[in-house]
Amino acid sequence: MRIGRRYTGSAAIAAALLVAGCGSEHGAGSADSATTTRPAGTSAGSGQTETARRCSGRPTIAETEGPYFKAGSPARTSLVQAGTGGTRLVLTGRVLTTSCTPVAGARLDFWQADASGSYDNSGYRLRGHQLTDAAGRFTLTTIVPGEYPGRTQHIHVKVKAPGKPELTTQLFLPGEPGNQRDAIFDPSLVMRVHDSGSGKAATFDFILG
Ligand code: FE
Repeated sequence: MRIGRRYTGSAAIAAALLVAGCGSEHGAGSADSATTTRPAGTSAGSGQTETARRCSGRPTIAETEGPYFKAGSPARTSLVQAGTGGTRLVLTGRVLTTSCTPVAGARLDFWQADASGSYDNSGYRLRGHQLTDAAGRFTLTTIVPGEYPGRTQHIHVKVKAPGKPELTTQLFLPGEPGNQRDAIFDPSLVMRVHDSGSGKAATFDFILG
């Protein structure tokens, strides 16, 4: 089950970039600000958070797929199964065009490491896909992913809207020390996260160019 826990060469690249000072380009302020910009009066799962946020119109950047994508994930909005440990995370958001028009029927395929930083490469644990609703919205119930060598915490996703090229990218958590050591990290891909009960609630909108 525990197969290969790092991307080939990513640790070395991260180290090289850190030495070169590139890590500082991803200012901690940008990431940290993501924790404080949630609109007032919204709450986890209210469905209001995503509709209250403004659309920048800037396309979501692509990131490397990494070595652990598997086609054929099951259709499901919750990746939490019996025995899934870790901190619960509910991610809500939308898929939008650069004109900020919601995209219905966009396919989101998520995959991630478990709380200990391991991917399930023999099955489909912590993997699943879903379609956005008529308002372009999605909800993913999962856990906070663990770190593994060379990488900060992240959730992988492929977003495919009808008539548009597929976007492959990754989402990050705000304020994690590992963000500044990870050459793949980008502050534009940081989710807005806040505590919700015993877990966390997050939001992120994908904008397809
Ligand atoms: Fe990964």
